[in-house]
Amino acid sequence: MFYAWIGNVYRQPIATGERTVCNCCAGELLAVVPQDNKAHWRHKAGDCDPWSEPEGEWHLAWKEKFPLHSREVPMIDHATQERHRADVFLQLPGCVGTTVELQHSAISEKERDAREVFYSARGRMFWLIHIHSETNFNAISFRCSFSRESPFEYGGSTFYSMSWYGRSKQFIEKWKRSRTYVYFNIEGHIFYLATMSACTPVVQAQKKGEFALYHVTEQQFLRSVGV
Ligand SMILES: [Zn+2]
Repeated sequence: MFYAWIGNVYRQPIATGERTVCNCCAGELLAVVPQDNKAHWRHKAGDCDPWSEPEGEWHLAWKEKFPLHSREVPMIDHATQERHRADVFLQLPGCVGTTVELQHSAISEKERDAREVFYSARGRMFWLIHIHSETNFNAISFRCSFSRESPFEYGGSTFYSMSWYGRSKQFIEKWKRSRTYVYFNIEGHIFYLATMSACTPVVQAQKKGEFALYHVTEQQFLRSVGV
């Protein structure tokens, strides 16, 4: 995690040796200030959020686009004592809450589902999926799939229909089946994906591996989320 309350300030660590406590589990946090990564806090006894993933430049750059106090918001299910930290949680007066999950690592469909259930209970949920080539071939598949040959209109937007390149369609099928809003972030571009819940008839008509999306600007993405 990048942020914690230290004194009266919610911030990243500045120097090795700083200590504070987690505002979700009250566990001790130690400052980690590496030369080759962003300064962050580490739970001394292990992260209280089992969904946390190693974070770097991509996560921090996105979190910094949101108001400070909407970043890394702890949530507890009082019935089950389950604890999770939303990457971003916006609560505007008179509106339902909005969670944004910034996902860089691969996750299983089971975990995607569990997170959607947990965060959707608190309002709307958006995924921003980082498609990159560090650990898999998704970026290559995305580039090879990308096409503007089959546009169609749905819900007032022009989608482009395409077919996922490569033998395994698992990645694209998993995200198509999302019950929330899914955006892909690849090489500085953002795309809105037609998902089962948001664009049901579109996804129901697709064959395995087929998907539809359209390009949005960063400003449009942030406006959709509610910044
Ligand atoms: Zn904690």
